[in-house]
This record gives sequence, C-alpha cells and structure tokens, in this order.
Amino acid sequence: MADPTTDTVFDKIIRGEIPAQKVYEDDGVIAILDINPLAEGHCLVIPKEPAPTMGELSDDAAAALGRVLPRVCRAVRKVTGCPALNVLENDGSEAGQEIPHVHVHVIPRFPDRDPGSGLRKTWAPIAVDQEALAELGRKIARLL
Ligand code: AMP
Repeated sequence: MADPTTDTVFDKIIRGEIPAQKVYEDDGVIAILDINPLAEGHCLVIPKEPAPTMGELSDDAAAALGRVLPRVCRAVRKVTGCPALNVLENDGSEAGQEIPHVHVHVIPRFPDRDPGSGLRKTWAPIAVDQEALAELGRKIARLL
C-alpha cells in the first residue's frame, strides 16, 4: 500500500516522478509554480522532508524552508511587480490543507487587477477575554 506521508504529489515532484514548473531547488527545499494559481506568480515553497504539518518538521528542514522563503518572495515581487504578497500555509485538512506535505504559498496580490484581494476580507477576529488570552499566551510560551 502507498505510504500517505511519502506519496503525495509533492513527494512525486521532489523525486522527479511527475513534472512541475520548478523555480528553485537545493538539498532541502524546492519551489514550484502552483498549477492552479490564485494570481500570476503564485509559488509553493516545499521542504523535501516528508512532514504533513509544520509542527512535524525537523529544525533543519524548518531552517532550510525559512532561508528560502524570503528569496522566493523577493523574486516573485520583482518579476511580477506585485505590491504585496500573502505568505501562508494551510496546516491540516481542517485549515484547508489538501496535500499533506508542508508547503508555503507565496501569492502575489494585485489590487488594481483584483480589488479586495488578499485575506483581510475573510479575516474575522473572534471576541476574546483579555485575561484568558494572556493565560493562553503563557501556556504557549512555556512549550517553546
Ligand atoms: P493546500 O490546499 O494548501 O494543500 O494547497 C495545495 C496547492 O497545491 C493548491 O494550490 C494546488 O493548486 C497545488 N497543486 C496541486 N497539485 C499540484 C501540482 N502537480 N503542481 C503544482 N501545484 C499543485
């Protein structure tokens, strides 16, 4: 049976089994053009390590990913001329992740072509109790 953690479309692209429009590759990371882009120049930056979610990435793979992300952002801005980008990762299926291999979207935003683009339209903050929020922050900090 296929191993779901190493048999995603991105694992196949990394192994060269299926084609992709590769824009960058090093020992730890590839970056490709998204096949169904939300905007011209939409890239995916993908660590080669087969981790389904960000929290499962090793420190080395995370460092490799972090090193490449700003470079891809700079190149996409320069080539597309976009004034802004959304850089995001859907982390788990309930967050909209379809392919269980970590990948960070770099999405150029062109307000003149697509007014209202970007995530702000659907970004709906919840009501919070400030004390509960502070306690949550302390709990997260203790794990880091
Ligand atoms: P997500 O919902 O965050 O898992 O995003 C998956 C992304 O992968 C989508 O934007 C797809 O368009 C993209 N995608 C799926 N298959 C391919 C492929 N073969 N090459 C490039 N991008 C792909």
